[in-house]
Amino acid sequence: MISIPTVTLNDGAWFPELGLGTYNLRGEEGIAAMVEAIESGYRLLDTAVNYENEHEVGEAVRRSAIDRDELLVVSKIPGRHHGRQQAIDSIQGSLGMLGLDRIDLQLIHWPNPSVGKYVETWRGMIDARDRGLVRSIGVSNFTEAMLTELIDATGVVPAVNQVELHPYFPQGALRAFHADHGIRTESWSPLARRSELLTEQLLHELAVVHDRTPTQVVLRWHVQVGSTPIPKSADPDRQRENADVFDFTLTDDQVDAISALERGRLWGADPETHEEM
Ligand code: NAP
Repeated sequence: MISIPTVTLNDGAWFPELGLGTYNLRGEEGIAAMVEAIESGYRLLDTAVNYENEHEVGEAVRRSAIDRDELLVVSKIPGRHHGRQQAIDSIQGSLGMLGLDRIDLQLIHWPNPSVGKYVETWRGMIDARDRGLVRSIGVSNFTEAMLTELIDATGVVPAVNQVELHPYFPQGALRAFHADHGIRTESWSPLARRSELLTEQLLHELAVVHDRTPTQVVLRWHVQVGSTPIPKSADPDRQRENADVFDFTLTDDQVDAISALERGRLWGADPETHEEM
């Protein structure tokens, strides 16, 4: 079993340096894939109301041989549930779908600025944390200005900001802001959804140098830039390949060279304008 190291969040909770994305893992096949991942060493399962697989995630937690307290379930409040009371109701709904009595990390999925309620939603999440429904609270797809707004309004700093992050969009400025404020960065689509990223010559050259695969080089880069990647794979062999990145180290120059592959957002989902309900 692969041992995935952990870091400590700004609220004192533990958090793995790599986790499993579960988008599109559904039904019995999805549950089996998640149980396989847990058996390989994964401890973080990333879901959301909008993935429509919270039931499967809860079932994988129950079926695995690993103690509940050693697993970390992340879920997310969708745009249509924004608002202080709506956030609490959404979390109660997620707990029901998961069949669990606690969510370990609850995120706001998208800020949805046109709705104008992310600060109220954040207040509801603070209430939910105080009531013990969730252990840690954070956000997803928030900009520096939006994070500042939440902190100024409530004094509560999100534990995590989960954002699009991969070598084509390394998010250097946002990562520096997170580091200054004690916010853990989490990378969604860390493999750029198997786009041409994995065919980049640089990654193939570094894979040869380190006797690894290009995918492992990318995931190691996430670890070394201080972000928790959550690669999704339905395949047990690829899951193990993805998690097996904690026994080699890229040089600083190699990290910088990978960051220089930067192109920008791949799917145009700018949090200032993107709406997801
Ligand atoms: P990703 O993890 O970058 O890429 C997943 C794709 O890569 C799948 O097609 C997978 O196929 C393939 N893959 C995985 N490991 C591989 C390997 N070792 N070699 C070759 N191909 C491999 O993309 P993602 O699923 O979009 O992002 C990961 C997670 O982030 C999601 O599942 C979700 O939990 C989260 N997410 C969050 C947001 C947000 O707004 N907060 C947005 C998007 C995603 P197989 O399954 O066949 O291996």
